[in-house]
Amino acid sequence: MKVVTTLQELRACRAELPAPVGFVPTMGYLHEGHLSLVRAARQECASVAVSIFVNPTQFGPQEDLDTYPRDLDRDLKLLRSEGVDLVWTPSREEMYPPGYQTWVTVEDLTLPLEGKVRPGHFRGVTTIVSKLFIAVQPEKAYFGQKDAQQALVIRQMVRDLNFPIEIKICPTVREPDGLALSSRNVYLNADQRKAAPVLYRALRTAQEAYQAGECDAQTLRRIVEETIAREPLARLQYVSCADLGSLQEIEGAVHSPALLSIAVFIGSTRLIDNIILDAPHDIE
Ligand code: AMP
Repeated sequence: MKVVTTLQELRACRAELPAPVGFVPTMGYLHEGHLSLVRAARQECASVAVSIFVNPTQFGPQEDLDTYPRDLDRDLKLLRSEGVDLVWTPSREEMYPPGYQTWVTVEDLTLPLEGKVRPGHFRGVTTIVSKLFIAVQPEKAYFGQKDAQQALVIRQMVRDLNFPIEIKICPTVREPDGLALSSRNVYLNADQRKAAPVLYRALRTAQEAYQAGECDAQTLRRIVEETIAREPLARLQYVSCADLGSLQEIEGAVHSPALLSIAVFIGSTRLIDNIILDAPHDIE
């Protein structure tokens, strides 16, 4: 496994990789969710490249850029044991040199949900992912359904900008109690960790109601709200039941497929999760 930092090294190593190259962009502090993407890439591609970069431009001024967990040695061990060929750990200086002023923005899909409560977040995501794609030139790139809006935004960007890259969206990996794996779970203390499965429980309760015939989007959102409200350590930031294509909020009956998604504060830790109504496995 080659580990490189500079663009020059990255390009030299990339040129040696057999095609097709599968690419997994990450911010590090890897867990089984990230590794599931690496395994999917390993299965489908001749070479696997992973980037580790905590991208400053996707964090808001009040967010956790400075405290975001990092453990490069451990990450590299995990990636080595998954048979990854190339790891790129770009520097902030090379990605955003002084005077940097070029941005990639996707419009409508970034306005609701995460885009509404995290202004500028997706501009940072689409810009860095474009830069990573241009440098790595993968044939396929792997994203998690855990960040469903992000994956859909990237898919839109790739279509609009004609990147010759196939975007694969992989299912959310969860703890046995339902909590979606996230690098941010490390912020939770013992009591908060016990409370955190309420996100998935709320989504599942609404999904079960939907499967039992409850189609009204507002009622499904209310079921989520009520379940979260019963957990004293949790505070709901938003619940959305949106069309999976446009991410526009559904009023009235759900015509599937729909994305039921939430953002919840457990203490000061912000967690997100989602589930798809009428597509039990993944977005595809
Ligand atoms: P991050 O390091 O948080 O930027 O995540 C890198 C990639 O891993 C993104 O495509 C995420 O959607 C994906 N990912 C994060 N958590 C999970 C999870 N629990 N299951 C599947 N994919 C995940």
